[in-house]
Amino acid sequence: MFNNIGKKIKTLAKVIFWITFIMFVLGAIGGGIAIFATQDCEEYPAYIAAGIAVMLVGGGIGFLIAWIGSFFMYGYGQLIDDTEINRKTNQKILAQLGGEAVPEEPAAPVAPVAPVVPQEPKAEGEWFCRKCGFKNDASAKFCMRCGTPNE
Ligand SMILES: [Zn+2]
Repeated sequence: MFNNIGKKIKTLAKVIFWITFIMFVLGAIGGGIAIFATQDCEEYPAYIAAGIAVMLVGGGIGFLIAWIGSFFMYGYGQLIDDTEINRKTNQKILAQLGGEAVPEEPAAPVAPVAPVVPQEPKAEGEWFCRKCGFKNDASAKFCMRCGTPNE
């Protein structure tokens, strides 16, 4: 309902301009016609000129008043419009900056990990001699160091 209020004010300013202008024009035409109706224009042709002058001058004054009067309202609408555009532009800029400039949350401190006891890697099938502890290949049937059989 109140979106684009600046544009609505500008539209209203135009409508008021035209209403004011048309009212002045109608009044000026009415004034001219009144002169034609009440004066003997055939005998005094100057009244024809006077009636036309009332129409033109009245219309011109009406245009000026409507035009100048609409400045303020139209200008106010334009101001709001520009402010709205600025606000949207700022939001866009902030959104773009926000993606880069805002620092990420600091990583939570890592809980100290219990030291891992290094274990000798044991490939598939390798075996330790039950007597001397020597690491033997999977293919060995007897300990390579002491000859104890793998059981
Ligand atoms: Zn052995």
